[in-house]
Amino acid sequence: MFENLAEKLEGVFKRLKGRGRLDEENIKEALKEIRMALLEADVNFKVVKDFIEEVRSRAVGQEVLESITPGQQIVKIVHDRLVELLGGTSSQLRFGSRFPAPIMLVGLQGCGKTTTAVKLAKVLAKGGKRAGLVSADVYRPAAMEQLRVMAQKIGAPAFNADSSQDPVKICVQAVEEAKRNGYEVLILDTAGRLAIDTQMMEELKQIKNAVNPSEILFVADAMTGQDAVNVAAKFNELLGIDGVIMTKMDGDARGGAALSLKAVMGKPIKYVGIGEKIDALEVFHPERMASRILG
Ligand code: GDP
Repeated sequence: MFENLAEKLEGVFKRLKGRGRLDEENIKEALKEIRMALLEADVNFKVVKDFIEEVRSRAVGQEVLESITPGQQIVKIVHDRLVELLGGTSSQLRFGSRFPAPIMLVGLQGCGKTTTAVKLAKVLAKGGKRAGLVSADVYRPAAMEQLRVMAQKIGAPAFNADSSQDPVKICVQAVEEAKRNGYEVLILDTAGRLAIDTQMMEELKQIKNAVNPSEILFVADAMTGQDAVNVAAKFNELLGIDGVIMTKMDGDARGGAALSLKAVMGKPIKYVGIGEKIDALEVFHPERMASRILG
């Protein structure tokens, strides 16, 4: 996670800190290197441009240049900007006051949605919230079965749905059943396709209208870089989402999707998937991520 970027930035900062006094030329050179490192990490071009401008305007002031440790101060400026880029503070899930609170997971096929649904149920159970699961992916009966099997492994209740049923009906009935059973949360795993299409969006809108979710989370595959950001932005435009779960962060040495997402689409990353195992889902902490990048 972020290994390439971390390594590049480490080199830039080592040189800066080794210099003692800095002038505007040194800063210009360092900013150029930081810009390259961010672009190589696949961060959105416009996001990089704004980031560098912001760091430049904060770094070239007399206060920084005339301080005893200008290199250190610039590291601090970059760190603070990275935290902002990653969303500032961590964003909690909102459950509202209804039982169950429906949480709807949406995203493209293969992004890790089903695995994430089960991981999330486990995280919530650890926090004392019993979460039921249901799959509305009637187009892939194997995906419905996958959810049931995985849920069983962690002891989470998964509602039996029939792939011949209407996906909206499946979700509405699961909400009713979760209510009867006293579950606090119901995680809805919706169908994913290879690309966004109007039929898919229409179905998701109908589910949204029928169950009025307390959260709609877009599940994004970090390995797909800027594509993940673009698709997330499109889902937000067409459906409206509350946040993102970024999966497969463990396999992504660059980190461009995570660094661009908030700035491009304005919605926070709430959780990150960091492995295939069921307990490999963590709350996303911008501060910790930035510290990880800057070592
Ligand atoms: P879906 O089609 O979106 O429901 O995707 P799946 O849940 O079936 O996941 C697709 C693949 O991604 C599976 O092999 C998962 O084990 C894998 N996967 C999901 N999340 C992560 C993650 O955070 N890290 C890694 N390395 N693999 C993941």
